[in-house]
Amino acid sequence: MALRNVREIGDPILEKICRPVKEMNDRTRELIADMFDTMHESNGVGLAAPQVGILKRIVVIEVEEGESYVLINPEITAQDGEQTGYEGCLSVPGKTGVVTRPEHVVCNAMNEEMEPYTIEAEGLLARCICHELDHLDGHLYVELAGDQLYDNEELEQMEAEAEAEEAGADEAEEN
Ligand code: ZN
Repeated sequence: MALRNVREIGDPILEKICRPVKEMNDRTRELIADMFDTMHESNGVGLAAPQVGILKRIVVIEVEEGESYVLINPEITAQDGEQTGYEGCLSVPGKTGVVTRPEHVVCNAMNEEMEPYTIEAEGLLARCICHELDHLDGHLYVELAGDQLYDNEELEQMEAEAEAEEAGADEAEEN
């Protein structure tokens, strides 16, 4: 197991466009294994190569435990619908933003054997694919969250207040 250093917002490498992978070799296999280790260690659900300082079009995703994907040279070929929800990123520690993404995407990629395959995804997996592919073109979710970007502590407080308000409203209804 080898962990790599995760680059954080402000690091210019996160703003660069990544190069396609032309062939699989031992170095790239090791990178992919390290990306999974690094993602698991940080309890992330996805990681893109530029986040560990490598400008290659490689993404790893594991939204459901045990259901992992390696996406090499991925491309979204179709998308529809809309979902709005919370998003975070290992490169933006301590923050959560509200981001609107397509509800459903179709993504073509290559696996670790450089065999092409297609993922049809919805919900969290679709969100994760969009988020990670943005990294390959130098984009972070904070651009999409705009002013709906919160410190995690601030967000916890907001949620607690909303819950308290809801409880209050329930009581009022009973009376
Ligand atoms: Zn990210």
